[in-house]
Amino acid sequence: MSGIYIHIPFCLQACTYCDFHFSTNRSNQSEMVDMICLELTQRKNYLNNKGPIETIYFGGGTPSILSIPQLKKIWDTILDNFDCKIQEATLEANPDDLDEHSLTEMLALGIDRLSIGIQSFHDSVLQFYNRSHNAKESLEIIKKARRAGFKTLSMDLIYGFPSKDHGLWEKDLATTLEQEPDHISSYCLTVEPKTALGVWEKKGEFKEASEDFQAEQFEILQKTLNQAGYIQYEISNFAKENAFSLHNSNYWKGTPYLGLGPGAHSYDGEHRGHNLSHNGKYIKLLKNGESPFQEDFLSPEDRINEYILTSLRTMWGINALWLKNHLNYELFIKKAKEIKTFQEQGVLQIKGECITLTDKGKLLADYIASKLFI
Ligand code: SF4
Repeated sequence: MSGIYIHIPFCLQACTYCDFHFSTNRSNQSEMVDMICLELTQRKNYLNNKGPIETIYFGGGTPSILSIPQLKKIWDTILDNFDCKIQEATLEANPDDLDEHSLTEMLALGIDRLSIGIQSFHDSVLQFYNRSHNAKESLEIIKKARRAGFKTLSMDLIYGFPSKDHGLWEKDLATTLEQEPDHISSYCLTVEPKTALGVWEKKGEFKEASEDFQAEQFEILQKTLNQAGYIQYEISNFAKENAFSLHNSNYWKGTPYLGLGPGAHSYDGEHRGHNLSHNGKYIKLLKNGESPFQEDFLSPEDRINEYILTSLRTMWGINALWLKNHLNYELFIKKAKEIKTFQEQGVLQIKGECITLTDKGKLLADYIASKLFI
């Protein structure tokens, strides 16, 4: 079992908070599609013996910026070069990119899951984020995608927008629930140095919400979605029963995947690596018959800490037996004192070999993980 991730490194405009790899210069978009297809053929043996491809994920950037023929070209190249038994194929979309025709064409290809970048239902907030869509377009795309027949709809939301109270956020959550999405991903608005927000903050023109305010909004998120029947299967991801993202769950559980496109990461089950994050250089390397992929060096300690950090965020938690058998780290023995303290504080719980966070602990996930590191 394995997956393929395709990074589409273009966006219509730059959102003020975003530090992903993307370019708003789309003059080489068609060449990029050709080079992603070339990379697919060049690296088709990367996942050798790892079982068939079960999930495909188009992320970005903005994959919905691709024309249907461009999307089809990549899709067909995957099918032609890999043993595929597709169970889930996701495409990240911005609400203003798709119409009923393109949605139907995507479904016909085999894409059955849309992850829609809603972020907020308040136009003033969307404008502040420099999003290219408005709230009305979000509501329309959800209806169109349902009508077209998409099996699973996921909505992305941002919390932590600085404001006098939690009214905006509560309204966003209420509007979201009215749309009955199968899946919701929600991340906190954070300020990264190389973004517009980072520049504004440095100049004193913007101030991030306080940690307490962000934590309160996270608690509202957890409470509201839990009450509405969503399962928080990862700290930032909530889904109805049977609507967990298979691709992302596999990623968190350590299933191998091949990442294509500038900046994409790959994991073959033992080694991790990444592609160069530069559109022009990525194209040039492939044109010259070279590879944009570079293996990362991970020490045994890095692998242990990475497993702890990633798995603690999920509802399955850290499997101490797996950690002992695969990475030779006896967590219950090495961190007995820390585990006991966290249990007494009500932030960790143990069931058999598994260690998971309580709702209270989810607010402190990174801190708790760091205390369990080797
Ligand atoms: S559309 Fe997505 S990837 Fe592009 S700038 Fe906005 S947040 Fe970043």
